[in-house]
Amino acid sequence: MRLGEQAIVELAGVTKEYASVAALRGVDLVIGTGELVAIVGPSGSGKSTLLHMIGTLDRPTAGGVRVAGHDVAGLSDRELSALRARHIGFVFQQFHLAPGVSALDNVADGLLYSGRALKERRRQAGEALERVGLADRAGHRPHELSGGEQQRVAVARAVAGGPDLLLADEPTGNLDTAAGAGVLALLDELNRSGTTVTVITHDLDVAARAPRRIRVRDGLVVADERAGATSR
Ligand code: ADP
Repeated sequence: MRLGEQAIVELAGVTKEYASVAALRGVDLVIGTGELVAIVGPSGSGKSTLLHMIGTLDRPTAGGVRVAGHDVAGLSDRELSALRARHIGFVFQQFHLAPGVSALDNVADGLLYSGRALKERRRQAGEALERVGLADRAGHRPHELSGGEQQRVAVARAVAGGPDLLLADEPTGNLDTAAGAGVLALLDELNRSGTTVTVITHDLDVAARAPRRIRVRDGLVVADERAGATSR
């Protein structure tokens, strides 16, 4: 299967088995550069496993995964880390911020792989915090921030290095409705400015905002729906 010109992610016949459990059972999926995609499905359907495959956090049992033109099977673990660092930003339900560390340095530490000096990483981190509307909170530590603000710091960390692809696994799962809406609006905005965004959610309201919805059930993609261009 050839990688389409504009594809950032291509999964072909991806199967993932854990012991005797088949979490994914032959998934074909292409995500184009610039898309905003929601992956939905009931708990246990394989959404997180799919995220792990797309994000190259884990390798498939069978099938092919290409991200940003690289065939995952041909890369060592070290090369995969470099691929993730260069191309993919991650946001999870838990914010995963280091306690006692300022928002600025939480974001700057996400750029450690870049090998840049601390001063430059802090400059980039400052820009990322500005993008998420938290320039004035840069010196705050996580416990001094609301849940919504903490998740926005996590988003800043994910996008500070300018990834092509932002993967979010239930990013609003720990937030109240208003804070969740703020984070979703931020993901929309990042998408409009060119980042490909894939959001995994069991929340149909969240999914309804996305121009493309992929439904997963029992380890299979059972629907791939595109809304009209004006439905966002
Ligand atoms: P979802 O994200 O939709 O809730 P998951 O991808 O987490 O679904 O899980 C899909 C299936 O794979 C479930 O049956 C789950 O129990 C199983 N599974 C996921 N990760 C592991 C693992 N590390 N070890 C064993 N089973 C797993």
